[in-house]
Amino acid sequence: MNLTNSESKNADLSAEALGNEIKSAPNPVPRANDADTLAEEILEKLTYSVGKDPIVARRHDWLTATTLAVRDRIIDHWFATSQRGYKESLKRVYYLSLEFLIGRLLRDAISNLGLDKTLPVALSRYNINLDLIELLEPDAALGNGGLGRLAACFMESMASTGVPSYGYGIRYRHGLFRQEIADGSQVELPENWLAHGNPWEFERQEASYEIGFGGKVISIQEEGKGPRQVWRPAERLLAVAYDVPIVGWRAASVNTLRLWSAQALDPILLDAFNSGDHIGALREANKAEAITQVLYPADSHLAGQELRLRQEYFFSSASLQDILRRHLSQYPSLDNLSDKVSIQLNDTHPAVSVAELMRLLVDVHGMDWDKAWKITQETFSYTNHTLLPEALETWPVHIFERLLPRQMQIIYAINAAVISEAQGKGFDGGKIASLSLIDEGHGRRVRMGQLAFVGSHAINGVSALHTELMKETVFRALHELYPDRIQNKTNGVTPRRWLFQSNRGLTKLLEETIGPEFKDNIDKLKDFDRFATDPETRKRFAAVKLDNKKRLAKLISERMALNVNPEAIFDIQVKRIHEYKRQLLNVLEAVALYEQIRSHPEQNWTPRVKIFAGKAAPSYFKAKLIIHLINDVARVIDSDPAVRDLLKVVFIPNYNVSLAETIMPAADISEQISTAGLEASGTGNMKFALNGALTIGTLDGANVEMLEHLGDENIFIFGLNADDVARRRNDGHSGRGIIETTPLLKSAIDSIASGVFSPDEPQRYRDLITDLYDRDWWMICADFDAYWQTQRQLDALWLDKDAWYEKAIRNTARMGWFSSDRSIREYAHDIWNVKTLS
Ligand SMILES: *Cc1c(COP(=O)(O)O)cnc(C)c1O
Repeated sequence: MNLTNSESKNADLSAEALGNEIKSAPNPVPRANDADTLAEEILEKLTYSVGKDPIVARRHDWLTATTLAVRDRIIDHWFATSQRGYKESLKRVYYLSLEFLIGRLLRDAISNLGLDKTLPVALSRYNINLDLIELLEPDAALGNGGLGRLAACFMESMASTGVPSYGYGIRYRHGLFRQEIADGSQVELPENWLAHGNPWEFERQEASYEIGFGGKVISIQEEGKGPRQVWRPAERLLAVAYDVPIVGWRAASVNTLRLWSAQALDPILLDAFNSGDHIGALREANKAEAITQVLYPADSHLAGQELRLRQEYFFSSASLQDILRRHLSQYPSLDNLSDKVSIQLNDTHPAVSVAELMRLLVDVHGMDWDKAWKITQETFSYTNHTLLPEALETWPVHIFERLLPRQMQIIYAINAAVISEAQGKGFDGGKIASLSLIDEGHGRRVRMGQLAFVGSHAINGVSALHTELMKETVFRALHELYPDRIQNKTNGVTPRRWLFQSNRGLTKLLEETIGPEFKDNIDKLKDFDRFATDPETRKRFAAVKLDNKKRLAKLISERMALNVNPEAIFDIQVKRIHEYKRQLLNVLEAVALYEQIRSHPEQNWTPRVKIFAGKAAPSYFKAKLIIHLINDVARVIDSDPAVRDLLKVVFIPNYNVSLAETIMPAADISEQISTAGLEASGTGNMKFALNGALTIGTLDGANVEMLEHLGDENIFIFGLNADDVARRRNDGHSGRGIIETTPLLKSAIDSIASGVFSPDEPQRYRDLITDLYDRDWWMICADFDAYWQTQRQLDALWLDKDAWYEKAIRNTARMGWFSSDRSIREYAHDIWNVKTLS
């Protein structure tokens, strides 16, 4: 059996193809949303689907029953969405992403279906508290950080704005590791989110595709035609689909997140089995299934292992086969593919799709090369997420060639055409070398960014600054060759999850001041601006914030047996731990502040709780060292009675989406202090400000646009800008001179270096200290003084609560533009050419 056969077999079996033939849609009677009906349905699920008598049912059983009852309602809308797509021949958007950091889904579904008032009442009939059982849902961490969370916000926004779309990714058996802190250090534990099954997913054994690796390419000469290339893979396995419905706001539409799981074609080798080698018989299965076992835990860093490239190709090929199958179930040929299909590549992880689509069109479907290339470019678009050299994806040609021999040939052919076009325009050797799909300088590597670029009609950055830097750095030569391809699409976050659900107090206050229209039109948040000077609203806003801080304080006390004072400033930095994000700058300020409080106890210090959370890639030594330092500093400060109640440092373990939902509404200060030019956008910055935290940050990523929307009196910008950083790095900047002339900084560094915070191992932080003196690559010393001064400005502002809450209210009021609905509308209009419902 070859790949072509399996596709046509699957086409016949596909649910959608069958659905398409049934012209009279099963038009479900809309279900009543009252508490009685819901209570009955939940009881029925508990009894007949979970198989439990309510008398013995545990809380987890109630969660499952509730999820299933809610799911039924989603399914009604799901079919309606899918049928509308077929009936109206709508163009579909496919969002290909190796990560979807979706978190919990129950509250999202309840809220978007409008059941948030009645469902808790229904459950209370059985003495069940929704707020408690929803915590039992595992937090699906199929992503690392911002990139994966963006994909999740985009899925929700595409459903809310009515963009017919599918997300495609991998159903990792183990998502991102669970983080514990032991003796101050990060410990990684496996995350088994599927242990109790996943009531949100539907396995689609009928939607499965063969995926090949290795082998050889043979050239077949056909009568009257040119040679045709046929790939004969040595290894073959199956990609099996699991569908998760994603419901939009007010159930505007329900889209599908289709996640692929790897399965052996021949799970048990019968020969081996029959000869008594039962373990050996499973070898094939184990090797195949390894592909979807784990998510690579490195964020903004190239993992580089062959298994990662296998994951990338596996999910790209399965998704493309599925897309072509669906298209051909509806249209007679692939000629109109780009009229009906847009494929967005979320970073370069799915970039091999460019070569794979060419292979499917040319080798499998017999299309001619030039036509296939035009369709490919019109179909794909690519989002770049980072300019960090260590994160730009490249693969050694020899690995690529061995694993994907035909795709490698195709990449060479594409490259030859691009280079000849550039030569035609008189590009010199240096420019050609930099736009080539092959990096000849480092042992020959395939550059996935260049591949994604040339195969796409639109390439976007994720904030205005990042997009400009893209044009000047990695894609400088390609931008010169194709000057109309790069555009900006500033990131956003969904206000449903990050305001309505996570901050019910503020949502209620908004409803009672500006009225409920903002829930359907987030631009209406602007109306809240005129309440910024209203004393009553300020008081209520402050009360909501205090309430949220108490909730976070309770979580900290329960998880860490540590008491923090909710009346103190909550100064929060939560995100992946990375040198460029500069948690080290923050902790240095904490140490300096600690020393100042100790040496000047008579001064009127503003009480502060500095809260950190975030995971480090397991192999990222310095990031893990920074976690250790934060925990060491936290312990020493906590045990020092001299600063009690004035300063606390807290590291909350296991940052994930659920924890973020509790943290964002509780922040007074949001730390967005990356080295300028290095954070592509940030989305944590948006969640915080939407919830009324004041940002202390650099002119980096979307902070730049936040400054424009908020006004410079409502955001606290400090430090070097991107040009300054580039210039200093060019001039061979180091920290030594700055340290010697900045006593606060010097003293903080000296304390750390002399083991004040690590008496058991005084040299523990030597590597971090040496970096600061010799290189200061991340401009921590360079920005320290400006950061310190700005923090003290915030201290002073805190004493004037009226002024503080005026700014906080203006932050919430002016953040509507940063909704991911706005991002999606821009993609839909400028890149995908699809209409939105709203
Ligand atoms: C929003 C979010 C991120 C991204 O945070 P940044 O500060 O933009 O890096 C990462 N992880 C989780 C769990 C998030 O919710």
